Amino acid sequence: MKKALLTLNAGSSSLKFALFDADFGNNPLASGQVDRIGPEGTLRLKRADGKVSTLLPGSLRTHEEALQTVIGVLRSEFEGLEVAAVGHRVVHGGTEYEAPVRLEPEIVTALEAFSPFAPLHQPHNLAGVRAAFAAFPGAPQVACFDTAFHRQHPFVNDTFALPREYFRKGVRRYGFHGLSYEFIAGELQRIDPVLASGRVVVAHLGNGASMCALQGGRSIASTMGFSALDGLPMGTRCGQLDPGVMLYLMTEEGLDAQAISDLLYKKSGLLGLSGVSNDMRTLETSQSPHAREAIDYYTFRIRRELGAMVAALEGLDGLVFCGGVGENSARIRAEVCDPMAWFGISLASKANEQNAQVISDASSRVRVMVIPTNEELVIARATTRIIFGDERALA
Ligand code: ADP
Repeated sequence: MKKALLTLNAGSSSLKFALFDADFGNNPLASGQVDRIGPEGTLRLKRADGKVSTLLPGSLRTHEEALQTVIGVLRSEFEGLEVAAVGHRVVHGGTEYEAPVRLEPEIVTALEAFSPFAPLHQPHNLAGVRAAFAAFPGAPQVACFDTAFHRQHPFVNDTFALPREYFRKGVRRYGFHGLSYEFIAGELQRIDPVLASGRVVVAHLGNGASMCALQGGRSIASTMGFSALDGLPMGTRCGQLDPGVMLYLMTEEGLDAQAISDLLYKKSGLLGLSGVSNDMRTLETSQSPHAREAIDYYTFRIRRELGAMVAALEGLDGLVFCGGVGENSARIRAEVCDPMAWFGISLASKANEQNAQVISDASSRVRVMVIPTNEELVIARATTRIIFGDERALA
């Protein structure tokens, strides 16, 4: 087979991957993910024809093992597989990295310095980089940063009202989900260039969730800030929280940094509020009143943050939903939009039920859209551009 490009997105306990071949255009040859890296890890593989298989290979205990197993599975699927380049999602690029970069050992070392800013993501991203260097010693590797798309924010959207020295030390709002927003901005430009030149809020609603204010396709504000905890409530993350709560947890409840981190990243959000699940599909079918309240809080906070984004943009022309919830849940989209009728948002209920591309009706002042996001494609495009100088040069 021809040379292929591998994209990797290593999370704290998961490893997402996609294998691209230029002949297949934008569709990967295969994609999938390892979940629950550890003794109970599973590997899900989706082939280009849409067939999905779940494997329990038993050798998914560490990120290194997971990558080796993924490579083994891909090699047995694609005879003669030659990985020509590897593209990585790296959560944090600090203030230095405003664009994807070819990884050299000294850059990997420099990126380690950002681990304290994203302790639950960055070390795993870099473990994926190291594992890929070991697995493909000859293949060039590229890092694509979640923060990069947000690097042009005005000062007021980047700072906290702390003494200046903290801003200089890097305590500032970075914003995340940048690869997803970059993809949506590009799609919007292709689908509706007039809207793309205006004021658009994108709501990326997946396990992690955030919103981004786009002005002429550039990010000017994000609900995520210094960490991926801020803004919207998520599957297991709290979203915006009064910092006084953390002081109380420390002084009165005796929680240390590790316990607070566990609470805010893993036990809060939809899971914490509902006591049922972090998964929106489960909550939507649950009879529990707490599940109902968790959904109410979720959609309320999306509307509240939408108001903040509108203020940053000084108006709103379009609202785009993406991510697992945003792309698939007509109910959540309706529960976000219907109470915003006063603002000129009006959904076409049938189009919404069908997850159509445009889900607002003709009377809506704001165009509401559903655009499936594709972070892997952003990584693949950036990697081919940097390594081969041309997005379609793999053929
Ligand atoms: P990640 O952030 O891990 O990439 P996804 O973008 O895949 O996550 O989003 C996962 C979320 O999407 C889960 O809460 C899941 O329940 C939700 N989801 C997926 N399909 C639907 C659906 N049809 N209705 C409601 N929620 C859905």
